[in-house]
Amino acid sequence: MRVTEHLARSDRPLISFEIIPPLRGGNLRTLLALIEDLVRWQPPFIDITSHSAQVIFEETASGFQRRVKRKRPGTLGVCALIQNKYDVDAVPHILCQGFTREETEDFLIELNYLGIDNVLAVRGDDSGYRKPLQFGRSANAFALDLVQQVAAMNRGRYLEEDLLDADPTDFCIGAGGYPEKHFEAPNLEADLRWAKAKVEAGAEYVVTQMFFDNRHYFQYVEAARRQGIEAPIIPGLKVLTSVKQLVSIPRTFHCEIPAELTREVEAGGPDHALDVGVEWAARQAEELLSRGVPGLHFYVMQSAESIRRVMNHLGTRFDLDAPLVARG
Ligand SMILES: Cc1cc2nc3c(=O)[nH]c(=O)nc-3n(C[C@H](O)[C@H](O)[C@H](O)COP(=O)(O)OP(=O)(O)OC[C@H]3O[C@@H](n4cnc5c(N)ncnc54)[C@H](O)[C@@H]3O)c2cc1C
Repeated sequence: MRVTEHLARSDRPLISFEIIPPLRGGNLRTLLALIEDLVRWQPPFIDITSHSAQVIFEETASGFQRRVKRKRPGTLGVCALIQNKYDVDAVPHILCQGFTREETEDFLIELNYLGIDNVLAVRGDDSGYRKPLQFGRSANAFALDLVQQVAAMNRGRYLEEDLLDADPTDFCIGAGGYPEKHFEAPNLEADLRWAKAKVEAGAEYVVTQMFFDNRHYFQYVEAARRQGIEAPIIPGLKVLTSVKQLVSIPRTFHCEIPAELTREVEAGGPDHALDVGVEWAARQAEELLSRGVPGLHFYVMQSAESIRRVMNHLGTRFDLDAPLVARG
């Protein structure tokens, strides 16, 4: 089912999760255990991230060698597994970065054949790798281009212009949003103009980057509505689990960690960082849910322990343990 249908039909806010495929050479056992932990919360959908190849410089006897490696393939396989083994809608992320438009079209065809109804279209993290474009190949520069490509396929327009009467796909397209603005955007207003362009091009909902101060989310939604963006904006939440993340999260995701959270984590030390992070995320989630957000999207990545504790906290208060009843 499409994410927007889930949102329209559910009788309560939806809890969704985001996971990453294993590292190359890894196995599925750990991921399966994680998914099994997560499905007991009846997520309507689970997102699976995508990862482009990246450039790595390795020191060898003859000097530094430039290598291109794709560390985390497997998005397609994990999607098929989630959809078929657990009967949960899989939302693969599709990227501009590292893929030609032709490869993206092939990926979308595979997803369509697998009965996957949703994609989240993002530009992709900059991995330093630029795929060389051979003759006849093209690339998407921004997520907007990617949204346009999927929307065109939804109208039966594939890349080959002479492919007439092609079967239209029916992907529900999601896009990323940045409550603290995307780090490259000069200001929030400019960033929201592009977000609006993505919605006008066919994105039907937005999932936000993580934030640790709900005011950023509320202000973002207000500003988005003022710009005329009407699509549902699902808040993305991450549970802080270690002292190290006080530095790594702002560096990687360009979001602020509030002073109060920093003080609490530092005061508790490494052994209590998880407890503090769980408490904080549970308070954030409670406030968001009580103010009527369409859902909560948890960045789980590799361990469900922190999410399990947040969900235990929220379960009874928001009736999230009860069987999910679809309306209509
Ligand atoms: C929910 C979510 C999931 C994610 N999943 C992944 C993942 O699986 N894999 C991964 O590698 N990364 C992922 N990311 C990270 C994302 O790829 C990066 O944040 C990336 O830098 C921006 O992606 P975007 O889709 O927002 O880009 P865009 O919408 O392309 O925006 C990028 C920047 O360019 C500006 N801009 C947008 N369109 C235009 C235009 N047409 N012309 C000029 N400027 C423009 C925007 O204001 C912004 O500053 C995810 C992010 C989010 C929020």
